Amino acid sequence: MAGEFELIQRFFRDATANRADVLLGVGDDCALLQVPAGQALAVSSDTLLAGHHFAPDAEPEALGHKVLAVNLSDLAAMGAEPAWVSLCISLPNADESWLSGFMRGFTQLASRFGVQLVGGDTTRGPLSIGVTVQGFVDPDRALRRDAARAGDGVYVSGMLGDAGLALKCRQGLYVGKGDMAHLDERLDRPQPRVDLGMRLQPFSRCAIDISDGLGADLGHICEQSGVGATLQLDSLPLSSAVQAYITETGDWSLPLSAGDDYELVFTVAQQRQLDFELILGTLDVAVTRVGTIEQGDRPRAIAPDGRVIDEVTRGYDHFRS
Ligand code: ADP
Ligand code: MG
Repeated sequence: MAGEFELIQRFFRDATANRADVLLGVGDDCALLQVPAGQALAVSSDTLLAGHHFAPDAEPEALGHKVLAVNLSDLAAMGAEPAWVSLCISLPNADESWLSGFMRGFTQLASRFGVQLVGGDTTRGPLSIGVTVQGFVDPDRALRRDAARAGDGVYVSGMLGDAGLALKCRQGLYVGKGDMAHLDERLDRPQPRVDLGMRLQPFSRCAIDISDGLGADLGHICEQSGVGATLQLDSLPLSSAVQAYITETGDWSLPLSAGDDYELVFTVAQQRQLDFELILGTLDVAVTRVGTIEQGDRPRAIAPDGRVIDEVTRGYDHFRS
């Protein structure tokens, strides 16, 4: 069985493309990295534990994609340009076919965004994966959670609730209708909205990525910005599968409270909205206006029948009609 050093040589040392700003990469005590002048370093970490965050038998290639995707999603939500990643991995044994599948998913996504693997740690133990990404952002233009103001429009990227519906189907709680392969893809291979985040800088000061559901994550913006928000449920972007689910069950909690979509929710000040709407056709993902920032301290939602839902940051039952 391969030792730690061989694993590093074989799977991590030259896994990704070389960047000029990596003065020294995998192989020494530290990596030496050059941050561009005038830019701040944006840094974010996530740890995924087998049994908690993913099934121990999860497909390794999808897992390699997802651990990096959820981290890149945090950079996207800051408006940062991804550059470097570190990988701390603990494995019960040196399973080379698992590792090569995992690294295939990981490096495919890394190369799409020009991200270089610059270091990490490899140990034996229960399967756990820790990823830290680093990127660059102009500190005065970063998309912060505390920057929403009353009157701003609230926008989301992509569609909401697909990943949550895929999970519900997988757990046997619902029998999905329509394109299940598409739903599974949305759960297993979320697409970090990196390009959108960077394009938002001239228009937005405030964004968060949706990992815990639109209501909860917009709730973080409200809390940190000291504002409220009203969402119009009939304007939420929904796939036909999610629409069918809501028609059948009356349950709006799926697009409001289900996590794992990794779309962005962001605000645009009123005087920037016309200019912003002019560039929508040039973005690589659809963007939809779903509400407005108002005075207050939390988000609420208006259902299509006019009913006001006051507790959108809370769970499932509150949304059953
Ligand atoms: P040290 O004993 O100094 O911590 P290691 O033997 O743990 O060094 O690691 C040797 C080199 O390999 C270091 O540059 C480290 O960053 C890199 N490395 C170890 N594991 C990984 C990994 N999973 N992914 C990327 N780089 C790794
Ligand atoms: Mg080490």
